[in-house]
Amino acid sequence: MSEEEAPGSGPRVVLVTGGSRGIGAACVSWFVANGDHVAYTSRSEPSDRDDGSLGLRCDVTDPAQIESAFSAVEERFGPVEVLVSNAGITRDTLIARMGEDAWAEVIDTNLTGSYRVARRAVAKMLRLHRGRIIFVSSVGAFIGLPGQANYAASKAGLLGMARALAREVASRSITVNVVAPGLVATDMIEPLGAERIDQMRAMVPLGRTATAEEIADAVGFLASSGAGYITGAVLPVDGGMGMGL
Ligand code: NDP
Repeated sequence: MSEEEAPGSGPRVVLVTGGSRGIGAACVSWFVANGDHVAYTSRSEPSDRDDGSLGLRCDVTDPAQIESAFSAVEERFGPVEVLVSNAGITRDTLIARMGEDAWAEVIDTNLTGSYRVARRAVAKMLRLHRGRIIFVSSVGAFIGLPGQANYAASKAGLLGMARALAREVASRSITVNVVAPGLVATDMIEPLGAERIDQMRAMVPLGRTATAEEIADAVGFLASSGAGYITGAVLPVDGGMGMGL
């Protein structure tokens, strides 16, 4: 057993933002199967999963809703020990046509939303002297696909935030890491259409999209005792899409 496991061993309290579908829902399933106490959020009313997890309505762009969600989790399970900041959106368009609203909405959700939940979670983790924070970024942070200036900026911003935060909280045994998925078969890529998805799949050395469960496996690993010495890291889960030529 690692040293880190001792005080916080047993089920941990896990919060997954954007956990109602896609990658977030797969993360919820991973942690539930691991025996953890799991809460998850979404803007829409989450449907009951019937697996002991707690679904909460919470828009990460609204600090008051974040405060209520954390309070609800603390009341039911206790302070959050593992935060998966996964909620994210796209509003793709070429920058010449990208209005202030499309820029601001994506930054506010993907980057500032992650800052808000991390800040709230860290306050309690510092007192616990343990915690895991995992930000869900994207291969788009590295390769910068056309039409995604807002999204790429938001996802690249997570890397800088994670590394600064990792240094700030390391002395309390809190780790902060980033998972950078490639093309994942979820609702998010549907609007791209079959032709564009095929084009993008051709950019993936492994030649296929990822399942949401494959991303959840990486997130789960970074939250596990086996990853206790990993902090400030970026783990690509992209079939090789983001590596240099
Ligand atoms: P989905 O669109 O399938 O799910 C997004 C989730 O986030 C939903 O639960 C949605 O619920 C929630 N959400 C969106 N906006 C907010 C908000 N403001 N507040 C709270 N919850 C919100 O996306 P994926 O599962 O594909 O993506 C999950 C993460 O992975 C995102 O950060 C995305 O950028 C990233 N990613 C995805 C890739 C892919 O190819 N699919 C590739 C690389 C990264 P609701 O709409 O009800 O709020």
